[in-house]
Amino acid sequence: MSKGITSKKDDYSQWYNDIVIKADLAEHSSVKGCMVIKPYGYSIWEKIQAVLDQKFKDTGHSNAYFPLFIPKSYFSKEAAHVEGFATECAVVTHYRLKNDGNGNIVVDETAKLEEELIVRPTSETIIWNTYRGWIESYRDLPLLINQWANVVRWEMRTRLFLRTTEFLWQEGHTAHATSQEAIEETERMLDVYADFSENWMAVPVVKGKKTPTERFAGALETYCIEALMQDGKALQAGTSHFLGQNFAKAFDVKFTSKEGKLEHVWATSWGVSTRLMGALIMAHSDDAGLVLPPKLAPIQVVIVPIYKGEEDLAKISTFVDELILKLKGLGVSVKYDSRDSQRPGFKFAEYELKGVPIRLAIGGRDMENKTVELARRDTKEKFTVAQEGLDTYIANLLEEIQESIYNKAHQFREEHITEANSYQEFKELLDGKTGFISAHWDGTAETEKQIKEETKATIRCIPLNNKQEDGVCILTGKPSTQRVLFARAY
Ligand code: AMP
Repeated sequence: MSKGITSKKDDYSQWYNDIVIKADLAEHSSVKGCMVIKPYGYSIWEKIQAVLDQKFKDTGHSNAYFPLFIPKSYFSKEAAHVEGFATECAVVTHYRLKNDGNGNIVVDETAKLEEELIVRPTSETIIWNTYRGWIESYRDLPLLINQWANVVRWEMRTRLFLRTTEFLWQEGHTAHATSQEAIEETERMLDVYADFSENWMAVPVVKGKKTPTERFAGALETYCIEALMQDGKALQAGTSHFLGQNFAKAFDVKFTSKEGKLEHVWATSWGVSTRLMGALIMAHSDDAGLVLPPKLAPIQVVIVPIYKGEEDLAKISTFVDELILKLKGLGVSVKYDSRDSQRPGFKFAEYELKGVPIRLAIGGRDMENKTVELARRDTKEKFTVAQEGLDTYIANLLEEIQESIYNKAHQFREEHITEANSYQEFKELLDGKTGFISAHWDGTAETEKQIKEETKATIRCIPLNNKQEDGVCILTGKPSTQRVLFARAY
């Protein structure tokens, strides 16, 4: 136990909640299923947004914004889409309240909307209804748009960041002249997500395709990145959908091709949400609190002076001010915590809890010796380091920490992908909470459903570039040509 954090081994779920609350990332709101993202948590989300936003722009996309409300008639136009989302929609029916004369505020029944509005659970319908007016010819394509927004899905079982009723996300919605271009876009954005996850979040992912049962409602193909958490459960960290011409047909969006033919437009959509925060927390943290990869840490280095009097502090501060300037010049974010209202030990615990990658402590003796004490959050190692050249030492160490956090997570993931060759073996592995299980499946929805019902494990994905290998389905014994990845998931 540290600072009242439940040990990961004792109760993983409680450990996760403790970290979210105690590291001041978010809290449950008074509205069921909805959370309050606190300033520290939001500052990490802002870093995630900034990096992704740049990546979207680098791949040719522009941001735009569409309405929060979707008329029910639009929402109903694509049959599979509405069927998939129907059970989790918030619906606006009225637009006015009134005082009933007894001091109660009630819904004014005379102010009923002619057409109900759906609070967007995703924006394909309102966006494709808009695209009809934007697309006429091949010259208008591709149309590459992203939206940063909140969405609402009436989830029954929620968990901070991982699954909330209202969540923040980005949704890309693109329109193309050919099927091939749309598929290329779907795969490109999956790569963007995988690159972000691995190189910024330090979370290794498996890229793959979902089975038809797990596809996004209205998609022809759903690609995903799947990550593994430290308790051996999988987490879908992002999705990219090839929507074919389904939405173009539903909303009558056509373009004149180079050859002068009128054709339906091809579509993609892709999204990641505040769930990424959950992945980041679950993948790296320990019993002392959050462990953040330097590239997403709002504070990368914290400096704590250890001083006896004002004179002592003044000396240390002169050195620190100069160091901060140099570090900022190298693009490193630093906080100097010289508050005299808290003792150094308290500050150490606080920054450990908040996952600040590097902590420097500097006292009078260090000033004499021209050294500092440096502590690494990820490994908890402490070193004495020379003040001379400290700025470049820190910049290099931050890179090393980023890599080391990734390598640790990668090694864990590799150690937790196991092959199962019989249903018995499969079930035994699941009892041991062993992560991804690679097994043969006969390709039918019935088998997938039965395995899910009996074991709670789902097919996370059919990995891209999967090895073709003859085998038999673990459940039915029917022939199979490749293994798929199963896991219990969040
Ligand atoms: P989808 O539109 O269903 O493909 O989801 C897009 C992204 O949002 C995926 O990365 C999901 O993991 C994530 N997501 C879906 N539902 C929720 C939720 N209730 N809370 C947080 N993230 C979600």
